[in-house]
Amino acid sequence: MTIRDLLNYGADSLKNSSESPRLDCSILLAKVMGIDRASLFARYSDIVDDPHIEQFKKFITLRSQGYPVAYILNEKEFYGYTFYLEDGVLTPRPDTEILVETALDLIEKNSLKTGLDMCTGTGCIAITLKKECPKLDIIATDISPISERVFKVNNQKLLNNSINFIHSDLFSNLKDKKFDIIVTNPPYLTKKETEDRVLDGWKEPVLALDGGFDGLDLIHTIIDEAPNYLNNSGWLLIEASSNQMEDMKRSMESAGYKNIHILKDLASLDRIIVGKYE
Ligand code: GLN
Repeated sequence: MTIRDLLNYGADSLKNSSESPRLDCSILLAKVMGIDRASLFARYSDIVDDPHIEQFKKFITLRSQGYPVAYILNEKEFYGYTFYLEDGVLTPRPDTEILVETALDLIEKNSLKTGLDMCTGTGCIAITLKKECPKLDIIATDISPISERVFKVNNQKLLNNSINFIHSDLFSNLKDKKFDIIVTNPPYLTKKETEDRVLDGWKEPVLALDGGFDGLDLIHTIIDEAPNYLNNSGWLLIEASSNQMEDMKRSMESAGYKNIHILKDLASLDRIIVGKYE
């Protein structure tokens, strides 16, 4: 079989299970063959050897069972860095890069020195902030033991272990700590949205998605408790769904946050809320 044959076979096999069958196949085949995607297209008529065909077919089977490409390859690019990941942690999303960009801007403009990334998952937010701002003293937390393991791989691989991880259920193990900035991409899907994804065969962990009845269970706790963990004029940045933003804004106003503003994601939907606690 040629590269062209395999791409056609793969795209056909994934037409019901992926929104981007051709893209997925080309990423998987390029990885199997150890070349980049551009070379794949330049070598359309090349014959592929049997071990590579076998490996590619295994990947296509996993993808058709609902495993994201990132889980199959155990890696995902985020903000130009390649993060290790596995089944059991949330796949980093491009929209979360906007949270990182916003945080970087605040850190630079206000000379912020200490940070917390809560519900860190792969560590993509904390690690990217530290890569871009090496002087920032940032801690990452998560309740999930899988996250802790995956975070540590990324911390070693990308930063020579320069970030501390604390196993913590939200703020529970952070007593007496204070930060200039707290960033978080917590679970914020509604129970119904989470259940629908499970029924659809979605492979990401419920723990990283389910935010309770209206998706705001953890977010309300974070908004209420963060002032105890923020230094004067400290910032809180939260990623959530667009239809949760008004509710979050009201909660932040009544908790005394100032300078509250909402930023849009790549699809122009409200995605990030920012507030300052004076
Ligand atoms: N943005 C993610 C999604 O819609 C949800 C991630 C989360 O709950 N933190 O898939």
